[in-house]
Amino acid sequence: MKRQKIVAGNWKMNCTRTEATELVRAILLNCDHSGDTLNLLFPPFPFLTEVCALIQEANNFKAGAQNCSAQARGAYTGEVSADMIRSCGASYVIVGHSERRQYFNEQPKELRGKIQQALASGLKVIFCFGEQLSDRRAGNHFQLVKTQITDVLSGFTPEQLTNLVLAYEPVWAIGTGETASPEQAQSMHAHVRKVLSDLYSTNLSDNTNILYGGSCNAQNAKELFSCPDVDGGLIGGASLKADEFCKIMASF
Ligand code: PEP
Repeated sequence: MKRQKIVAGNWKMNCTRTEATELVRAILLNCDHSGDTLNLLFPPFPFLTEVCALIQEANNFKAGAQNCSAQARGAYTGEVSADMIRSCGASYVIVGHSERRQYFNEQPKELRGKIQQALASGLKVIFCFGEQLSDRRAGNHFQLVKTQITDVLSGFTPEQLTNLVLAYEPVWAIGTGETASPEQAQSMHAHVRKVLSDLYSTNLSDNTNILYGGSCNAQNAKELFSCPDVDGGLIGGASLKADEFCKIMASF
């Protein structure tokens, strides 16, 4: 096991079908395919099959979904199962994004269920967590992040954890244009590694990819990605512009 450089684009609820395919084509055209960075695209569900087909031949590109159900199948109108996502050709899913926690009230038990379903279907998971501004101001951010991780991840085996990528996303930095400083990101990522090594082992902690997310862009990515415990970024707004996203990919 070895850590990998990762740049992941979370498109959220943006793009029509035409815009989605144009965005993928522009990214494939403009980015450097020769590097060893793993590039992940997270389009909305309706475009997943098409995006997977477009990137099939591209070196170091994979796609995933922004969410999955905590149920395997059945009478859950409007839900999308991990098996369905896998059958579209996708290989990742995002679980625990702050927007899902905030607007859809997703709680640790449900997040655990989603991760279980994803792993059982052969998907890898990007598990997100991060503090609100009020937690940081109160000095609770390290404890809160520890709780967010242990509440959801304890109970999974070390083997299962090898299929997880963690993403530290301070809520106050998501979509706000306010980025964590490299020092803030590094100290939280180092803390997350300590939490993982206490829960599992130093070996697992050393080999787990931890991404930073929150207003990461072509201007600040280089500094953030050069932090020793930051393995890349989960990018929202800036992943919708091909040239910007390609510059972020080239920031390592
Ligand atoms: C995100 O949604 O995961 C994110 C990091 O968004 P943004 O880059 O727009 O802050």
